[in-house]
This record gives sequence, C-alpha cells and structure tokens, in this order.
Amino acid sequence: MRALRLVEIGKLSLVELADPSAAPNEIIIETIATGVCGSDVHGYTGENGRRFPGQVMGHETVGRISSLGSDIDSNLYPVGALATVNPVILPASEKQEYEGREQHAPRRRVLGVDPTIVSAFAERFAVPATNVVLLPELLNPLHGALIEPLAVALQAVRRIGIVRGQVVLVVGGGPIGQSCILAAKRAGAARLIVSEPNDARRGLCAALGAEVIDPGQSVVPDAVHALTGGVGVDVAIDAVGATSTIADALLSTVLGGRVCLVGMAQPNVSLAAYRISTDEKSLVGSFTYPAETFNEAAKWVAEGDSALDLLVSQVVEPDEGDMVFKRLASSLDVPAKVLVRFAPDRPIDKIALTVDTLKAS
Ligand SMILES: [Zn+2]
Repeated sequence: MRALRLVEIGKLSLVELADPSAAPNEIIIETIATGVCGSDVHGYTGENGRRFPGQVMGHETVGRISSLGSDIDSNLYPVGALATVNPVILPASEKQEYEGREQHAPRRRVLGVDPTIVSAFAERFAVPATNVVLLPELLNPLHGALIEPLAVALQAVRRIGIVRGQVVLVVGGGPIGQSCILAAKRAGAARLIVSEPNDARRGLCAALGAEVIDPGQSVVPDAVHALTGGVGVDVAIDAVGATSTIADALLSTVLGGRVCLVGMAQPNVSLAAYRISTDEKSLVGSFTYPAETFNEAAKWVAEGDSALDLLVSQVVEPDEGDMVFKRLASSLDVPAKVLVRFAPDRPIDKIALTVDTLKAS
C-alpha cells in the first residue's frame, strides 16, 4: 500500500509499505481522505518536536471498514461502512479509570502522533475497534475528516463554558479557529469576533458568521472594546498560542472572563499576570477531547451542516503531499483545511468485493 512517510524533517515521501494486519481487537480502515493538521506541519518542520523521522502521520481521517480482527463482531462493524477514528487510544488497563476523561490517561497513545503507529496518511491502517466511530452515508464523505478538528473545538468550548447569548472572541482564524467559530455558535454564542491577520482567512471567518479584526491594522483589545461598547467579550479562545495572542485574549475579556488556550505556537509565553489575578480571569488549557466529545462531533457532522463545505480549501493526491506540506509551512495562503485523498470513495459492494477477493487469494 502507499503511505506518506516523514523520511526526514522537512521531507515527506510517498512510499510502498506492507499492508497492515489486524490484531484480534483491531479493525483495518481503508482511508478515503486525511486532513493535514497544523501540528503535522509543525512536526514536519521540526518546530514542535512532536513528530519523528520515519513515521506515517495522520489523525483527521475518514474511511471505510476494510477488514476485522478475529474478535470483532461484523454485525457491529460491517465491512464497507463509512467511519472515522478517534485518535486517542487507551490501553485496556486505563479504560475504566479514565472513562469520560480519556485525554488524561497517562499511557494513552495518539494516532498520527505516536511514531510507532502507521497512521492515516496511508491507504490502510489498523486501529482498536473501540476507536472506530461509525458514520451514516454522508452527502459529502470528506466531511468525516473534519470530525477530529471539530471535536478539538467542541472541547475548547466546553472547557471555557460558553453559554447561550455570550459574546466570544476567537484569536486566530485558521482551521481550528474556524472550527471554534462553528462550535461556539452551536453552543449558543450570540456574537463571534475573530482576530486574524490573513485576508483570505478573515474572509472565510466572516462567511462563517464572525465579525473580523485585522491585528495588523488595529490593536485587538481596542478593536474588541470598540465593537462591544467598551465592555469586552465574555470569553475568548486563543487558537494561536503565542505571547501576543494570549495577551489579546486576556485584555479583550470582561472582568471575571475566561480564556481557553488551545493553540500551541510557542512552548513558553509571558503573561499579563495582573489581568488574571486582579481581574479574576481564568486561563484554561484544552487538548484533544474525551471520547464522548469526539462522538458528539461525529453526530454533528452526521446531521449535515452546509457550513462544513467552507472548512475544506483543497483536496490533493498523495504524491502532492510533500509539496502541500512545504506550502503550508511557508505561507498562510491556504485559508482552510487541506485533505489528502487516498481513495476516491467507492460504493460498499465494490469494497466488500475487494475484501472477499483478498480473503480468497
Ligand atoms: Zn489535529
């Protein structure tokens, strides 16, 4: 099978790998498409140190069930069914204790991050059946690859406790910021304000229903106060994660306001500490999601939401992988998500036939 391997920092190659085989508790997914995450790009450049040469990345994916490990019930996981994968994989020994907060399990492994797992930038990959989330036949199956970033956004919205009627600032209008706009709206936010330096991204955020600020043209907290009659926003999500963006979020919120840090641009930042102490503001972190939140994101996508079309900028072929990573690493000219398509989607009977043919041979 073909897979995109990070052969060295700054280079992805399309390589031929042996087909994966399923352990008794695993399922083989045949990939339709996998999204390129900012964390993949920063791993590719070596900036975040969270990806390693030799690995096959990919954690935002949609595909079809291709074959089943010997312990898996085919009535529960029909071959050919459309599915996505929750990338947060727990060892059996931690499943019970960390139920409801799977992201806190100390021995969790994350598909696409753990260098020992051949992940979703491949034609096929193996995952535990408990991480496979079945989807109904979507009008646009590619939307299934958006479930993971939408789950990140739902978790950020939960961490910050957005309630109906609130005014929300999202700092950073890239793919996670865009997902946060939709998740905050879904949670009942009355107004969304987004700060984003890139023109195309600002245009996209406006199309998603946000009021937009260009931080290159105005001081963000001043612009936020001007838009809110001097009051500020109730809550803010920093989808960038740098000293300046956390400052913008803290200085733009009301006294007692909450700021959620979901972006990871800088490993160390300096903070306007008095804005937290004397203003009684809360700064909370958010990373991945509990399984329940991931499942909720899958339900959201299954309902069909036409705004999701706006979250995909480009679909590329696997042999364009290195080129697209280079481009994403060097510029912000792609406003939304890029997906790598491994297989044009095929009808169930055809894929089932392929599997039967494989079994027979
Ligand atoms: Zn991601």
